[in-house]
Amino acid sequence: MNQKIMDQVLASPRLPSLPTIALEVIDLVQQQDVDIRKIAETISHDPALTSKILKTVNSSFYGQTQEISTVTHALVILGLNSIKTLALGFSLVNNLPKGEDGDQGFDHMSFWKRSLYSAVAARCLSTQCGVVEQEEAFLGALLQDLGLLAMAETLDDSYLDIVDDAQNDHAKLIQLEREQLECDHAEVGAALAETWKLPALLVNPVRFHEDPSDAPEELQTLCRAVALGNKVADVFILEENSGQALENYLQLAESWFNLPNETAEPLLTTIHKNTVEMGRLFDLPTGPLGNSQEIIARAHEALLNVSMQQTQETVQLEQQNKQLHAKATTDPLTQIANRGHYDDYSAEQFELCRKEGKPLTILFLDTDHFKKFNDTYGHATGDRVLIAKAKVLKETVGDQGFVARYGGEEFSIVLPGMNRVDAARMGETVRLAIEAMPVESDDGETLNVTASIGVATDDGTFFKDVEQLIKAADQGVYAAKRSGRNCVRVFTPRPKPAAA
Ligand code: GH3
Ligand code: MG
Ligand code: MG
Repeated sequence: MNQKIMDQVLASPRLPSLPTIALEVIDLVQQQDVDIRKIAETISHDPALTSKILKTVNSSFYGQTQEISTVTHALVILGLNSIKTLALGFSLVNNLPKGEDGDQGFDHMSFWKRSLYSAVAARCLSTQCGVVEQEEAFLGALLQDLGLLAMAETLDDSYLDIVDDAQNDHAKLIQLEREQLECDHAEVGAALAETWKLPALLVNPVRFHEDPSDAPEELQTLCRAVALGNKVADVFILEENSGQALENYLQLAESWFNLPNETAEPLLTTIHKNTVEMGRLFDLPTGPLGNSQEIIARAHEALLNVSMQQTQETVQLEQQNKQLHAKATTDPLTQIANRGHYDDYSAEQFELCRKEGKPLTILFLDTDHFKKFNDTYGHATGDRVLIAKAKVLKETVGDQGFVARYGGEEFSIVLPGMNRVDAARMGETVRLAIEAMPVESDDGETLNVTASIGVATDDGTFFKDVEQLIKAADQGVYAAKRSGRNCVRVFTPRPKPAAA
Protein backbone atom coordinates (compact mmCIF):
# COMPACT_ATOMS: atom_id res chain seq x y z
CA MET A 1 0.00 0.00 0.00
CA ASN A 2 1.17 3.51 -0.80
CA GLN A 3 0.74 5.42 2.47
CA LYS A 4 1.48 8.77 0.86
CA ILE A 5 -1.48 8.51 -1.47
CA MET A 6 -3.66 7.18 1.32
CA ASP A 7 -2.77 10.17 3.53
CA GLN A 8 -3.21 12.61 0.68
CA VAL A 9 -6.75 11.33 0.10
CA LEU A 10 -7.82 10.98 3.72
CA ALA A 11 -6.43 14.37 4.80
CA SER A 12 -7.80 16.28 1.83
CA PRO A 13 -10.13 19.16 2.67
CA ARG A 14 -12.03 18.30 -0.53
CA LEU A 15 -13.22 15.03 0.96
CA PRO A 16 -16.99 15.09 1.62
CA SER A 17 -17.86 15.53 5.27
CA LEU A 18 -20.59 13.57 7.02
CA PRO A 19 -23.89 15.28 7.78
CA THR A 20 -24.97 15.42 11.41
CA ILE A 21 -27.79 13.00 10.87
CA ALA A 22 -25.39 10.41 9.43
CA LEU A 23 -23.09 10.83 12.44
CA GLU A 24 -26.03 10.31 14.76
CA VAL A 25 -27.19 7.21 12.92
CA ILE A 26 -23.66 5.77 12.87
CA ASP A 27 -23.49 6.38 16.59
CA LEU A 28 -26.81 4.59 17.10
CA VAL A 29 -25.74 1.72 14.86
CA GLN A 30 -22.69 1.12 17.06
CA GLN A 31 -24.80 0.81 20.21
CA GLN A 32 -25.65 -2.74 21.16
CA ASP A 33 -29.07 -2.41 22.76
CA VAL A 34 -30.34 0.68 21.11
CA ASP A 35 -33.93 1.52 21.81
CA ILE A 36 -36.23 1.40 18.77
CA ARG A 37 -37.92 4.59 19.94
CA LYS A 38 -34.57 6.40 20.06
CA ILE A 39 -33.84 5.44 16.45
CA ALA A 40 -37.35 6.42 15.34
CA GLU A 41 -36.96 9.74 17.07
CA THR A 42 -33.56 10.51 15.55
CA ILE A 43 -34.77 9.70 12.06
CA SER A 44 -38.00 11.63 12.49
CA HIS A 45 -36.01 14.79 13.23
CA ASP A 46 -35.14 14.81 9.56
CA PRO A 47 -38.39 14.95 7.58
CA ALA A 48 -36.64 14.49 4.22
CA LEU A 49 -34.94 11.35 5.50
CA THR A 50 -38.16 10.05 7.02
CA SER A 51 -40.02 10.54 3.77
CA LYS A 52 -37.32 8.76 1.77
CA ILE A 53 -37.28 5.80 4.15
CA LEU A 54 -41.07 5.46 4.07
CA LYS A 55 -41.17 5.69 0.28
CA THR A 56 -38.47 3.05 0.07
CA VAL A 57 -40.02 0.53 2.44
CA ASN A 58 -43.31 0.93 0.57
CA SER A 59 -41.65 0.46 -2.81
CA SER A 60 -41.97 -2.78 -4.72
CA PHE A 61 -38.27 -3.39 -3.98
CA TYR A 62 -39.24 -4.19 -0.39
CA GLY A 63 -42.33 -6.13 -1.44
CA GLN A 64 -44.46 -5.23 1.59
CA THR A 65 -48.16 -5.96 1.24
CA GLN A 66 -49.32 -3.46 3.84
CA GLU A 67 -48.81 0.30 3.72
CA ILE A 68 -46.17 1.46 6.24
CA SER A 69 -46.83 5.00 7.40
CA THR A 70 -44.42 5.78 10.26
CA VAL A 71 -40.78 5.09 11.03
CA THR A 72 -41.79 3.18 14.16
CA HIS A 73 -44.11 1.02 12.07
CA ALA A 74 -41.28 0.41 9.59
CA LEU A 75 -38.99 -0.57 12.46
CA VAL A 76 -41.52 -3.08 13.72
CA ILE A 77 -42.29 -4.59 10.32
CA LEU A 78 -38.79 -4.61 8.76
CA GLY A 79 -36.66 -4.77 11.88
CA LEU A 80 -34.11 -2.48 13.40
CA ASN A 81 -31.26 -3.44 11.11
CA SER A 82 -33.12 -2.67 7.88
CA ILE A 83 -34.15 0.78 8.94
CA LYS A 84 -30.79 1.63 10.52
CA THR A 85 -29.00 0.65 7.34
CA LEU A 86 -31.45 2.52 5.13
CA ALA A 87 -31.14 5.65 7.24
CA LEU A 88 -27.38 5.38 7.10
CA GLY A 89 -27.48 4.84 3.34
CA PHE A 90 -29.68 7.85 2.67
CA SER A 91 -27.79 10.17 4.96
CA LEU A 92 -24.38 9.12 3.60
CA VAL A 93 -25.28 9.13 -0.06
CA ASN A 94 -27.04 12.44 0.31
CA ASN A 95 -23.73 14.11 1.05
CA LEU A 96 -21.56 12.41 -1.53
CA PRO A 97 -20.70 14.32 -4.72
CA LYS A 98 -23.09 13.80 -7.62
CA GLY A 99 -21.45 16.09 -10.15
CA GLU A 100 -22.94 19.10 -11.82
CA ASP A 101 -24.25 19.82 -15.27
CA GLY A 102 -21.47 20.44 -17.74
CA ASP A 103 -18.91 18.85 -15.39
CA GLN A 104 -15.68 17.99 -17.12
CA GLY A 105 -13.55 15.22 -15.72
CA PHE A 106 -14.98 12.61 -13.45
CA ASP A 107 -18.13 10.95 -14.80
CA HIS A 108 -20.43 10.99 -11.76
CA MET A 109 -23.36 9.71 -13.75
CA SER A 110 -21.66 6.51 -14.74
CA PHE A 111 -20.28 6.15 -11.21
CA TRP A 112 -23.72 6.27 -9.60
CA LYS A 113 -25.31 4.16 -12.29
CA ARG A 114 -22.84 1.40 -11.58
CA SER A 115 -23.07 1.72 -7.79
CA LEU A 116 -26.85 1.63 -7.85
CA TYR A 117 -27.12 -1.38 -10.17
CA SER A 118 -24.60 -3.22 -7.96
CA ALA A 119 -26.46 -2.30 -4.79
CA VAL A 120 -29.89 -3.38 -6.01
CA ALA A 121 -28.41 -6.53 -7.54
CA ALA A 122 -26.51 -7.39 -4.34
CA ARG A 123 -29.70 -7.08 -2.32
CA CYS A 124 -31.86 -9.04 -4.80
CA LEU A 125 -29.24 -11.80 -4.99
CA SER A 126 -28.94 -11.89 -1.19
CA THR A 127 -32.71 -12.24 -0.82
CA GLN A 128 -32.79 -14.93 -3.49
CA CYS A 129 -29.90 -16.89 -1.95
CA GLY A 130 -30.86 -16.48 1.71
CA VAL A 131 -27.90 -14.26 2.63
CA VAL A 132 -28.70 -12.81 6.05
CA GLU A 133 -27.08 -9.39 5.61
CA GLN A 134 -29.30 -8.16 2.78
CA GLU A 135 -29.24 -4.53 3.87
CA GLU A 136 -25.47 -4.54 4.27
CA ALA A 137 -25.19 -6.10 0.83
CA PHE A 138 -27.20 -3.18 -0.57
CA LEU A 139 -25.40 -0.41 1.27
CA GLY A 140 -22.00 -2.09 1.02
CA ALA A 141 -22.40 -2.29 -2.74
CA LEU A 142 -23.69 1.27 -2.95
CA LEU A 143 -20.60 2.51 -1.10
CA GLN A 144 -18.10 0.02 -2.54
CA ASP A 145 -16.45 2.57 -4.83
CA LEU A 146 -16.22 5.27 -2.19
CA GLY A 147 -12.45 5.14 -2.67
CA LEU A 148 -12.81 5.86 -6.36
CA LEU A 149 -14.99 8.87 -5.63
CA ALA A 150 -12.58 10.12 -2.95
CA MET A 151 -9.52 9.64 -5.18
CA ALA A 152 -11.22 11.38 -8.09
CA GLU A 153 -12.04 14.34 -5.80
CA THR A 154 -8.65 14.63 -4.14
CA LEU A 155 -5.89 13.37 -6.49
CA ASP A 156 -4.74 15.20 -9.60
CA ASP A 157 -5.92 14.57 -13.16
CA SER A 158 -3.53 11.68 -13.72
CA TYR A 159 -5.92 9.60 -11.61
CA LEU A 160 -8.77 10.51 -13.94
CA ASP A 161 -6.62 9.24 -16.80
CA ILE A 162 -6.39 5.87 -15.05
CA VAL A 163 -10.16 5.83 -14.60
CA ASP A 164 -10.60 6.71 -18.29
CA ASP A 165 -8.20 3.99 -19.39
CA ALA A 166 -10.12 1.36 -17.43
CA GLN A 167 -13.33 2.21 -19.35
CA ASN A 168 -15.68 1.11 -16.59
CA ASP A 169 -14.02 -2.27 -16.26
CA HIS A 170 -13.23 -2.35 -12.54
CA ALA A 171 -11.01 -5.41 -12.62
CA LYS A 172 -8.84 -3.44 -15.03
CA LEU A 173 -9.16 -0.27 -12.96
CA ILE A 174 -7.87 -1.96 -9.83
CA GLN A 175 -5.01 -3.48 -11.79
CA LEU A 176 -4.01 -0.10 -13.25
CA GLU A 177 -4.26 1.55 -9.82
CA ARG A 178 -2.01 -1.07 -8.26
CA GLU A 179 0.52 -0.78 -11.08
CA GLN A 180 0.62 3.00 -11.20
CA LEU A 181 -0.20 4.06 -7.62
CA GLU A 182 0.59 0.99 -5.52
CA CYS A 183 -2.74 1.67 -3.90
CA ASP A 184 -6.29 0.86 -5.06
CA HIS A 185 -9.74 2.32 -4.60
CA ALA A 186 -10.91 -0.68 -2.56
CA GLU A 187 -8.36 -0.06 0.21
CA VAL A 188 -8.78 3.70 0.08
CA GLY A 189 -12.58 3.28 0.30
CA ALA A 190 -12.26 0.89 3.24
CA ALA A 191 -9.89 3.27 5.06
CA LEU A 192 -12.32 6.12 4.50
CA ALA A 193 -15.26 4.04 5.74
CA GLU A 194 -13.22 3.22 8.83
CA THR A 195 -12.48 6.85 9.58
CA TRP A 196 -16.21 7.46 9.29
CA LYS A 197 -16.64 4.67 11.89
CA LEU A 198 -18.92 2.63 9.66
CA PRO A 199 -19.57 -0.87 11.00
CA ALA A 200 -17.33 -3.73 9.84
CA LEU A 201 -20.22 -5.23 7.89
CA LEU A 202 -20.03 -2.19 5.62
CA VAL A 203 -16.28 -1.63 5.65
CA ASN A 204 -15.47 -5.14 4.47
CA PRO A 205 -17.64 -5.28 1.35
CA VAL A 206 -15.91 -2.02 0.36
CA ARG A 207 -12.48 -3.55 1.00
CA PHE A 208 -13.11 -6.89 -0.71
CA HIS A 209 -15.54 -6.03 -3.49
CA GLU A 210 -13.01 -6.88 -6.20
CA ASP A 211 -11.47 -9.92 -4.45
CA PRO A 212 -14.28 -11.37 -2.32
CA SER A 213 -12.46 -14.66 -1.91
CA ASP A 214 -9.83 -12.83 0.17
CA ALA A 215 -12.47 -11.70 2.71
CA PRO A 216 -12.53 -13.32 6.16
CA GLU A 217 -14.51 -16.57 6.12
CA GLU A 218 -17.56 -15.20 7.98
CA LEU A 219 -17.86 -12.24 5.59
CA GLN A 220 -17.25 -14.10 2.37
CA THR A 221 -20.90 -14.64 1.43
CA LEU A 222 -21.69 -10.97 1.96
CA CYS A 223 -18.63 -9.83 -0.03
CA ARG A 224 -19.46 -12.27 -2.81
CA ALA A 225 -23.02 -10.94 -2.99
CA VAL A 226 -21.55 -7.46 -3.52
CA ALA A 227 -19.01 -8.71 -6.06
CA LEU A 228 -21.73 -10.58 -7.93
CA GLY A 229 -23.80 -7.39 -7.87
CA ASN A 230 -20.90 -5.80 -9.77
CA LYS A 231 -21.10 -8.45 -12.45
CA VAL A 232 -24.78 -7.63 -12.90
CA ALA A 233 -23.90 -3.94 -13.15
CA ASP A 234 -21.39 -4.84 -15.86
CA VAL A 235 -24.13 -6.53 -17.90
CA PHE A 236 -26.09 -3.26 -17.91
CA ILE A 237 -23.15 -0.90 -18.23
CA LEU A 238 -20.43 -2.45 -20.39
CA GLU A 239 -21.91 -1.98 -23.81
CA GLU A 240 -18.96 -3.44 -25.70
CA ASN A 241 -18.36 -6.39 -23.39
CA SER A 242 -21.85 -7.10 -22.13
CA GLY A 243 -21.68 -10.67 -23.51
CA GLN A 244 -18.60 -11.51 -21.49
CA ALA A 245 -20.18 -9.77 -18.49
CA LEU A 246 -23.31 -11.90 -18.81
CA GLU A 247 -21.22 -15.04 -18.95
CA ASN A 248 -19.20 -13.97 -15.88
CA TYR A 249 -22.38 -13.24 -13.95
CA LEU A 250 -24.05 -16.55 -14.79
CA GLN A 251 -20.91 -18.53 -14.03
CA LEU A 252 -20.23 -16.88 -10.67
CA ALA A 253 -23.92 -17.05 -9.67
CA GLU A 254 -23.68 -20.78 -10.19
CA SER A 255 -20.32 -21.35 -8.53
CA TRP A 256 -20.71 -18.95 -5.58
CA PHE A 257 -24.42 -19.33 -4.85
CA ASN A 258 -25.51 -22.51 -6.67
CA LEU A 259 -27.86 -20.32 -8.63
CA PRO A 260 -28.79 -22.04 -11.90
CA ASN A 261 -29.05 -19.96 -15.07
CA GLU A 262 -32.84 -20.37 -15.12
CA THR A 263 -33.01 -18.46 -11.83
CA ALA A 264 -30.11 -16.06 -12.29
CA GLU A 265 -31.22 -14.86 -15.69
CA PRO A 266 -34.78 -13.64 -14.86
CA LEU A 267 -33.36 -11.82 -11.82
CA LEU A 268 -31.77 -9.36 -14.24
CA THR A 269 -35.17 -8.00 -15.23
CA THR A 270 -36.22 -7.59 -11.60
CA ILE A 271 -32.93 -5.89 -10.76
CA HIS A 272 -33.32 -3.44 -13.62
CA LYS A 273 -36.85 -2.53 -12.58
CA ASN A 274 -35.83 -1.99 -8.95
CA THR A 275 -32.78 0.02 -9.99
CA VAL A 276 -35.01 2.47 -11.83
CA GLU A 277 -37.17 2.79 -8.70
CA MET A 278 -34.29 3.12 -6.23
CA GLY A 279 -32.53 5.66 -8.47
CA ARG A 280 -35.56 7.87 -8.09
CA LEU A 281 -35.81 7.35 -4.31
CA PHE A 282 -32.12 7.98 -3.71
CA ASP A 283 -32.22 10.84 -6.16
CA LEU A 284 -29.12 9.63 -7.94
CA PRO A 285 -27.91 11.01 -11.28
CA THR A 286 -27.85 7.71 -13.16
CA GLY A 287 -29.09 9.05 -16.49
CA PRO A 288 -31.67 7.06 -18.44
CA LEU A 289 -31.33 3.33 -17.70
CA GLY A 290 -32.84 2.06 -20.95
CA ASN A 291 -35.01 -0.93 -21.62
CA SER A 292 -33.96 -4.04 -19.73
CA GLN A 293 -35.22 -6.52 -22.32
CA GLU A 294 -33.24 -4.78 -25.03
CA ILE A 295 -30.10 -4.64 -22.89
CA ILE A 296 -30.35 -8.31 -21.92
CA ALA A 297 -31.08 -9.36 -25.51
CA ARG A 298 -28.04 -7.39 -26.68
CA ALA A 299 -25.87 -9.08 -24.02
CA HIS A 300 -27.12 -12.46 -25.20
CA GLU A 301 -26.28 -11.66 -28.76
CA ALA A 302 -22.82 -10.47 -27.73
CA LEU A 303 -22.34 -13.63 -25.66
CA LEU A 304 -23.25 -15.73 -28.67
CA ASN A 305 -20.69 -13.81 -30.70
CA VAL A 306 -18.10 -14.30 -27.96
CA SER A 307 -18.67 -18.05 -27.85
CA MET A 308 -18.77 -18.30 -31.64
CA GLN A 309 -15.49 -16.45 -31.80
CA GLN A 310 -14.06 -18.73 -29.10
CA THR A 311 -15.18 -21.83 -31.03
CA GLN A 312 -13.62 -20.44 -34.21
CA GLU A 313 -10.41 -19.71 -32.36
CA THR A 314 -10.37 -23.24 -30.89
CA VAL A 315 -10.92 -24.78 -34.33
CA GLN A 316 -8.17 -22.61 -35.80
CA LEU A 317 -5.84 -23.54 -32.98
CA GLU A 318 -6.56 -27.24 -33.43
CA GLN A 319 -5.91 -26.90 -37.14
CA GLN A 320 -2.66 -25.08 -36.51
CA ASN A 321 -1.59 -27.75 -34.02
CA LYS A 322 -2.44 -30.46 -36.52
CA GLN A 323 -0.50 -28.68 -39.23
CA LEU A 324 2.46 -28.18 -36.92
CA HIS A 325 2.39 -31.82 -35.86
CA ALA A 326 2.14 -32.96 -39.49
CA LYS A 327 5.03 -30.70 -40.45
CA ALA A 328 7.16 -32.01 -37.60
CA THR A 329 6.48 -35.65 -38.43
CA THR A 330 6.39 -35.65 -42.26
CA ASP A 331 9.22 -35.87 -44.76
CA PRO A 332 8.83 -32.83 -47.01
CA LEU A 333 9.95 -34.56 -50.24
CA THR A 334 7.90 -37.76 -50.13
CA GLN A 335 5.13 -36.68 -47.74
CA ILE A 336 5.45 -39.87 -45.71
CA ALA A 337 6.60 -40.21 -42.07
CA ASN A 338 10.09 -38.84 -41.36
CA ARG A 339 12.87 -40.37 -39.32
CA GLY A 340 11.83 -38.79 -36.03
CA HIS A 341 8.31 -40.07 -36.35
CA TYR A 342 9.64 -43.49 -37.35
CA ASP A 343 11.90 -43.69 -34.29
CA ASP A 344 9.03 -42.84 -31.95
CA TYR A 345 6.54 -45.12 -33.64
CA SER A 346 8.83 -48.17 -33.92
CA ALA A 347 9.88 -47.88 -30.25
CA GLU A 348 6.25 -47.55 -29.18
CA GLN A 349 5.19 -50.58 -31.22
CA PHE A 350 8.06 -52.68 -29.89
CA GLU A 351 6.79 -52.09 -26.33
CA LEU A 352 3.17 -52.58 -27.27
CA CYS A 353 3.64 -55.81 -29.23
CA ARG A 354 5.79 -57.21 -26.45
CA LYS A 355 3.08 -56.34 -23.93
CA GLU A 356 0.34 -57.88 -26.04
CA GLY A 357 2.45 -60.93 -26.97
CA LYS A 358 2.28 -60.11 -30.70
CA PRO A 359 5.10 -60.36 -33.28
CA LEU A 360 6.55 -57.21 -34.83
CA THR A 361 8.18 -57.03 -38.25
CA ILE A 362 10.51 -54.38 -39.63
CA LEU A 363 11.28 -54.11 -43.35
CA PHE A 364 14.31 -52.14 -44.45
CA LEU A 365 14.71 -51.07 -48.08
CA ASP A 366 17.65 -49.57 -49.90
CA THR A 367 17.28 -48.48 -53.53
CA ASP A 368 19.74 -50.23 -55.78
CA HIS A 369 22.36 -48.08 -57.47
CA PHE A 370 20.39 -45.03 -56.69
CA LYS A 371 23.33 -42.75 -57.23
CA LYS A 372 23.17 -43.75 -60.89
CA PHE A 373 19.79 -42.01 -61.33
CA ASN A 374 21.20 -38.82 -59.95
CA ASP A 375 24.36 -39.05 -61.97
CA THR A 376 22.67 -39.98 -65.25
CA TYR A 377 19.42 -38.04 -65.18
CA GLY A 378 19.98 -35.35 -62.58
CA HIS A 379 18.96 -34.85 -58.99
CA ALA A 380 15.37 -33.96 -59.89
CA THR A 381 14.83 -37.36 -61.46
CA GLY A 382 16.38 -38.95 -58.37
CA ASP A 383 13.81 -37.07 -56.31
CA ARG A 384 10.99 -38.31 -58.53
CA VAL A 385 12.15 -41.88 -57.99
CA LEU A 386 11.99 -41.36 -54.22
CA ILE A 387 8.52 -39.80 -54.41
CA ALA A 388 7.21 -42.62 -56.60
CA LYS A 389 8.75 -45.21 -54.32
CA ALA A 390 7.14 -43.73 -51.23
CA LYS A 391 3.76 -43.73 -52.97
CA VAL A 392 4.06 -47.36 -54.09
CA LEU A 393 5.14 -48.46 -50.61
CA LYS A 394 2.17 -46.72 -49.00
CA GLU A 395 -0.25 -48.28 -51.49
CA THR A 396 1.23 -51.76 -51.15
CA VAL A 397 1.33 -51.81 -47.36
CA GLY A 398 -2.01 -50.02 -46.86
CA ASP A 399 -3.26 -50.16 -43.30
CA GLN A 400 -1.15 -53.18 -42.40
CA GLY A 401 1.87 -51.07 -41.56
CA PHE A 402 3.65 -47.78 -41.22
CA VAL A 403 5.92 -46.51 -44.00
CA ALA A 404 8.71 -44.02 -43.33
CA ARG A 405 11.66 -42.45 -45.10
CA TYR A 406 14.56 -43.55 -42.95
CA GLY A 407 17.07 -41.29 -44.67
CA GLY A 408 18.41 -40.63 -48.18
CA GLU A 409 17.16 -43.41 -50.43
CA GLU A 410 16.43 -45.77 -47.53
CA PHE A 411 12.90 -46.54 -46.41
CA SER A 412 11.55 -48.66 -43.60
CA ILE A 413 8.20 -50.26 -42.88
CA VAL A 414 6.89 -51.18 -39.42
CA LEU A 415 4.37 -54.04 -39.41
CA PRO A 416 2.87 -54.65 -35.97
CA GLY A 417 1.43 -58.13 -35.43
CA MET A 418 3.10 -59.60 -38.58
CA ASN A 419 4.91 -62.94 -38.17
CA ARG A 420 8.06 -64.12 -40.02
CA VAL A 421 6.27 -66.08 -42.71
CA ASP A 422 3.90 -63.26 -43.65
CA ALA A 423 6.81 -60.82 -43.34
CA ALA A 424 8.87 -62.68 -45.95
CA ARG A 425 5.83 -62.65 -48.24
CA MET A 426 5.32 -58.96 -47.65
CA GLY A 427 9.01 -58.33 -48.49
CA GLU A 428 8.52 -60.07 -51.83
CA THR A 429 5.24 -58.21 -52.56
CA VAL A 430 6.97 -54.90 -51.92
CA ARG A 431 9.98 -55.85 -54.03
CA LEU A 432 7.74 -56.73 -56.98
CA ALA A 433 5.72 -53.54 -56.60
CA ILE A 434 8.89 -51.42 -56.78
CA GLU A 435 10.15 -53.36 -59.75
CA ALA A 436 6.84 -52.78 -61.54
CA MET A 437 6.76 -49.08 -60.61
CA PRO A 438 6.59 -46.80 -63.66
CA VAL A 439 9.06 -43.92 -63.43
CA GLU A 440 10.26 -41.97 -66.44
CA SER A 441 13.24 -39.72 -66.96
CA ASP A 442 12.75 -36.20 -68.30
CA ASP A 443 13.36 -37.61 -71.79
CA GLY A 444 10.60 -40.19 -71.40
CA GLU A 445 13.00 -43.04 -70.80
CA THR A 446 11.61 -45.76 -68.50
CA LEU A 447 13.73 -46.26 -65.39
CA ASN A 448 14.24 -49.65 -63.84
CA VAL A 449 14.05 -49.06 -60.15
CA THR A 450 14.70 -51.95 -57.78
CA ALA A 451 15.44 -52.28 -54.10
CA SER A 452 17.28 -54.62 -51.77
CA ILE A 453 15.12 -55.54 -48.82
CA GLY A 454 15.95 -56.85 -45.37
CA VAL A 455 13.30 -58.32 -43.07
CA ALA A 456 13.49 -58.95 -39.32
CA THR A 457 10.72 -60.14 -37.03
CA ASP A 458 10.57 -59.95 -33.26
CA ASP A 459 8.72 -62.83 -31.63
CA GLY A 460 9.45 -61.72 -28.10
CA THR A 461 12.50 -63.91 -27.53
CA PHE A 462 15.60 -62.60 -29.27
CA PHE A 463 15.87 -58.82 -29.52
CA LYS A 464 16.61 -56.66 -26.52
CA ASP A 465 15.15 -53.48 -28.00
CA VAL A 466 13.82 -51.96 -31.18
CA GLU A 467 17.29 -50.70 -32.23
CA GLN A 468 18.54 -54.31 -32.37
CA LEU A 469 15.51 -55.28 -34.46
CA ILE A 470 16.13 -52.42 -36.92
CA LYS A 471 19.82 -53.31 -37.11
CA ALA A 472 18.87 -56.89 -37.95
CA ALA A 473 16.64 -55.72 -40.81
CA ASP A 474 19.50 -53.52 -42.04
CA GLN A 475 21.81 -56.57 -41.98
CA GLY A 476 19.20 -58.25 -44.19
CA VAL A 477 19.67 -55.39 -46.69
CA TYR A 478 23.43 -55.94 -46.77
CA ALA A 479 22.89 -59.63 -47.33
CA ALA A 480 20.52 -58.80 -50.22
CA LYS A 481 23.09 -56.41 -51.75
CA ARG A 482 25.73 -59.12 -51.50
CA SER A 483 23.39 -61.59 -53.17
CA GLY A 484 23.16 -59.39 -56.29
CA ARG A 485 20.51 -56.78 -55.24
CA ASN A 486 16.75 -56.69 -56.09
CA CYS A 487 15.99 -59.46 -53.60
CA VAL A 488 14.68 -60.03 -50.07
CA ARG A 489 16.69 -61.48 -47.20
CA VAL A 490 15.12 -62.46 -43.90
CA PHE A 491 17.24 -62.15 -40.75
CA THR A 492 17.46 -65.45 -38.91
CA PRO A 493 18.28 -65.18 -35.25
CA ARG A 494 21.02 -67.59 -34.26
CA PRO A 495 20.87 -68.71 -30.65
CA LYS A 496 24.11 -68.01 -28.78
CA PRO A 497 26.20 -71.13 -28.45
CA ALA A 498 25.72 -72.68 -25.02
CA ALA A 499 28.55 -71.88 -22.63
CA ALA A 500 30.97 -74.76 -22.37
P1 GH3 B 1 23.61 -49.27 -53.48
O1 GH3 B 1 22.90 -50.12 -54.44
O2 GH3 B 1 24.88 -49.89 -52.98
O3 GH3 B 1 22.76 -48.86 -52.36
O4 GH3 B 1 24.08 -47.97 -54.24
P2 GH3 B 1 23.50 -46.52 -54.10
O5 GH3 B 1 23.99 -45.71 -55.21
O6 GH3 B 1 22.02 -46.60 -53.94
O7 GH3 B 1 24.10 -46.09 -52.72
P3 GH3 B 1 24.85 -44.84 -52.21
O8 GH3 B 1 24.67 -44.85 -50.71
O9 GH3 B 1 26.25 -44.83 -52.73
O10 GH3 B 1 24.14 -43.59 -52.83
C1 GH3 B 1 22.97 -43.05 -52.26
C2 GH3 B 1 22.74 -41.75 -52.96
O11 GH3 B 1 21.48 -41.19 -52.64
C3 GH3 B 1 23.74 -40.69 -52.58
C4 GH3 B 1 22.93 -39.43 -52.38
O12 GH3 B 1 23.41 -38.34 -53.09
C5 GH3 B 1 21.57 -39.82 -52.88
N1 GH3 B 1 20.52 -39.14 -52.17
C6 GH3 B 1 20.31 -39.11 -50.82
N2 GH3 B 1 19.20 -38.36 -50.55
C7 GH3 B 1 18.72 -37.90 -51.74
C8 GH3 B 1 17.61 -37.11 -52.10
O13 GH3 B 1 16.83 -36.62 -51.28
N3 GH3 B 1 17.41 -36.86 -53.42
C9 GH3 B 1 18.26 -37.37 -54.38
N4 GH3 B 1 17.99 -37.09 -55.63
N5 GH3 B 1 19.31 -38.10 -54.05
C10 GH3 B 1 19.55 -38.40 -52.76
MG1 MG C 1 22.03 -46.33 -49.18
MG1 MG D 1 21.25 -47.58 -52.44
